[in-house]
Amino acid sequence: MTLPLPDSDPAGPALEVVPLGGLREFGMNMMLVSWGDTSIVVDAGVTFPDPELPGVDLIIPDLAHLEESGRRIAALVLTHGHEDHIGAVPYVWPLVDGPVLGTPLTLALVEPKLDEHGIDPGDRLVAVAPRQRVAIGPFTVEFIRVTHSMPDCVAVAIETPAGVILHTGDFKVDQTPPDGERFDLHRFAELGAAGVLALFSDSTNIDRRGVSGSEYEVVGAFEEIFTGARGKVVVAMFGSSIFRMQIVADLAEQFRRKVAFVGRGVVESSEVAQRLGLLKIRPGQLLRDSDVRTYPAEDVVCITTGSQGEPQAALSRIAIDDHRHVKLGPEDVVVFSARAIPGNEKAIGRVMNHIAARGSQLIYEGVKHVHVSGHGSDEELKLMLSLVRPRVFVPIHGEYRHLARHAQVAAQVCPDARVLLAQNGDLLRFRDGTGEIAGRVPTGRVLIDGTRTGEIAGEVLRDRRHVAADGLLVPVLAINRQTGAIEGVPDVIPRGFVVDERSESVLAEASVLLTDIVESASVEERTDLGLIRERVRTELQRVVRRRSGRRPLVVPVVMEV
Ligand SMILES: [Zn+2]
Ligand SMILES: [Zn+2]
Repeated sequence: MTLPLPDSDPAGPALEVVPLGGLREFGMNMMLVSWGDTSIVVDAGVTFPDPELPGVDLIIPDLAHLEESGRRIAALVLTHGHEDHIGAVPYVWPLVDGPVLGTPLTLALVEPKLDEHGIDPGDRLVAVAPRQRVAIGPFTVEFIRVTHSMPDCVAVAIETPAGVILHTGDFKVDQTPPDGERFDLHRFAELGAAGVLALFSDSTNIDRRGVSGSEYEVVGAFEEIFTGARGKVVVAMFGSSIFRMQIVADLAEQFRRKVAFVGRGVVESSEVAQRLGLLKIRPGQLLRDSDVRTYPAEDVVCITTGSQGEPQAALSRIAIDDHRHVKLGPEDVVVFSARAIPGNEKAIGRVMNHIAARGSQLIYEGVKHVHVSGHGSDEELKLMLSLVRPRVFVPIHGEYRHLARHAQVAAQVCPDARVLLAQNGDLLRFRDGTGEIAGRVPTGRVLIDGTRTGEIAGEVLRDRRHVAADGLLVPVLAINRQTGAIEGVPDVIPRGFVVDERSESVLAEASVLLTDIVESASVEERTDLGLIRERVRTELQRVVRRRSGRRPLVVPVVMEV
């Protein structure tokens, strides 16, 4: 195995890699790769706050280092279309002086995000195909097909003057991918045989034994569900679960049911996937959500958002009988076809309780095999290590315990490899065929608030700015846990909220306003702390903005008595 030797002068150029997100955490994956005065960024992801963190839509990596590095960022390279890999593209976009490279599906999912931020991509979105090689300054980037929980995913091999580095993106080894696009194991083996300087590999499922299994493994469970269901089948999943959509739609066809997509996330991504031919549903089989009620329940499958208990998502509204088009009854079956992301269990549990209260049958991962992970388990991760045999191994995508375990596994599979257990902001320097952690750069998280104005500020700064500009409102109310009735007189405590003619009336009527807001909700919604808090926050914010033109930070305190 020979590697091109880079400049051996210690003061000479070296390959530098800085993970800016996705290490010692799940989500907001982003990595900066630099040689001389040129950089490329691999992935630009977001992470989602707990469903109940008020006013925060997204969390993205702090981009200060990209802004201040003084290097030209010549390209943004995307592995696949999951939010934790593309969600921050609109924020990184202005910093990139060159193309954004990705597969057609990935780019199609990026486009509406740019549109939402008023960004015209021009000719900068450049579609790539597996095995395609693209020269960018001192780098040559090659895309390699991998399998995952959605179509059109790739790993990225970057040929640099110091050697080849390989970033797996997210992957599992699905030997029967629903779209027939095989994992390119041959190319990984070829690169390994030719010599790979460093491997950066997905660690998400390193603590699961064996193999994760094909997407097709859920078919059996869904067949049982379709066979037994006397009413509607409602399947909650992530908008990106396009393979899962295909499997459910195919079974629906087989069982002569129509398919309705309910909720923005699944509507949008299913449309994109259909346009690209990656999701195939016969037009006559599709039903608009508004037509669901006009069809016999036993002839319908709804694919919805809300698998994580998000208060605003379709399933949360359906669960409390507050959805315009979809109602649940005792004949219906609701399937959670997604993993419960840690932190969301409480919110998911509450949605499940509401569904159970409607008398509907509930099915989730623990009951039937209705979900299969998109990330490889330990044997698949070992296979990657065996094929690539890198000189340096850097586990990515995972919390500390996952990275540490992956590091241990790598030491067994590749005893000669140097393992770097890095964290976000570590500067990894590669020269002379090896690598080390050589320093730190500033990193952090930036919270994006719900206004969709594209404004960014750090967590503290964001709140302070709201408070500084428009003050703080703390609605305080007590709700009877059983009846949902308001106990006592609700109040709004203002801090730094400018009281003028327009805003005075809002405060004067606070208790009436709060009572109205609560009473406009169903008893079920009122007795759900998460839902009612969110409703009070958004409704009060709306009323205050409309009547006073101000946007104070609203932090509801809701007590159950
Ligand atoms: Zn992914
Ligand atoms: Zn991911």
